[in-house]
Amino acid sequence: PAPPPGRHFFSDPAEVEALRGSLLGWYDRCKRDLPWRTLAVMEPDADRRGYAVWVSEIMLQQTQVATVIDYYNRWMQKWPTLQALAQASLEEVNELWAGLGYYSRGKRLQEAARKVVSELAGRMPRTAEDLQKLLPGVGRYTAGAIASISYGQATGVVDGNVIRVLCRLRCIGADSSSPAVIDQLWDMANVLVDRSRPGDFNQALMELGATVCVPKAPLCGECPVKQHCQAWRKKLFGNPPKVPDVEDCGVGDCPLCPPATEPWDSSLGVTNFPRKAAKKPPRAMRTATCVLERRGCHRAPEYLIVQRPSSGLLAGLWEFPSLPLAQDLQEEREREELADHLQAWMGRPVAAKGLQFIGEVIHIFSHIHQTYVVYSLPLDGDVTLDPALSPSRWVTEDEFHASAVSTAMKKV
Ligand code: SF4
Repeated sequence: PAPPPGRHFFSDPAEVEALRGSLLGWYDRCKRDLPWRTLAVMEPDADRRGYAVWVSEIMLQQTQVATVIDYYNRWMQKWPTLQALAQASLEEVNELWAGLGYYSRGKRLQEAARKVVSELAGRMPRTAEDLQKLLPGVGRYTAGAIASISYGQATGVVDGNVIRVLCRLRCIGADSSSPAVIDQLWDMANVLVDRSRPGDFNQALMELGATVCVPKAPLCGECPVKQHCQAWRKKLFGNPPKVPDVEDCGVGDCPLCPPATEPWDSSLGVTNFPRKAAKKPPRAMRTATCVLERRGCHRAPEYLIVQRPSSGLLAGLWEFPSLPLAQDLQEEREREELADHLQAWMGRPVAAKGLQFIGEVIHIFSHIHQTYVVYSLPLDGDVTLDPALSPSRWVTEDEFHASAVSTAMKKV
């Protein structure tokens, strides 16, 4: 049966009004003071408001607020407008983004800024629909956030925090990443969003998920919307009251109810929701990496870094010369392969036994469990590198840290 539209979960207008009021009241009292929020309210220029929210939203994808603040401030200082960003080089963008992870975000942001300047006369699109349609890298969530926060469009947003809060508010127990559930959550977010303060309402819902309705130990006692929360009622009283009209979805086959094989676990309480399908384990990869060292001016050590290809994982970032390895190689064979790789590149013999094993560094990317097998190789005299293989340069330790290098390479 077709699932019921989101409004069936919030069919009582009086309840919706009360929930909005409680949430906004709490937000006004408790919201965190974040730099992009100040700009989104104080900035009179609509394009600059939209740009500020856009930058913050892209940085906040997959990244904690505490980490983003410093990056955001430096970014806005360096490129306060879309026009300034459009003139930046990718190298500068990567340098500022270094350490924030998911590097293609910075690149796409800059490409989109160029598009706004060259094709849209520097004017940001004003609705969620146009933002999503016209700006590369802007998905449904980011478009909704920019349009509601910067331009006051009454449109909802659904991110990880909102998914958690809504699934708990209405005891939605099916896999929260399934298209049926995600569709419903967007409907619900659009029904709930406050018509006069949509940006604040969306931020309040996300803030609630980030600070109160947190994944593992939600603070239900302090929650401003607990009176409307069915997971909380179920925890206290055993069963949530029936949602009006939810019967329409067809009991038993409802794509939103928990499967019969996964009943409510009372030891989990409200954290029974949301439910997720089991995650695929990350792919294991091994990479040999070599820190080539020489003595530069005044005998200070310098290290060789090379640039990665302009697409794929960590696109355009710099790293120590590295070589992906097969999983089951013996240590001796790994060393020989690395020596061959370096030899082809330097055009002179590199003895495998000259490579000094330093240790292993593990770094978890979202979908890859990466082990770097780290070697070092001190070099005498000048070395000529084959420029056809990849751009390279020698850097001091300080220059290395100021370059566009990933967190994984800093660990190395
Ligand atoms: Fe989340 Fe608890 Fe509030 Fe329900 S009562 S929304 S579970 S914090």
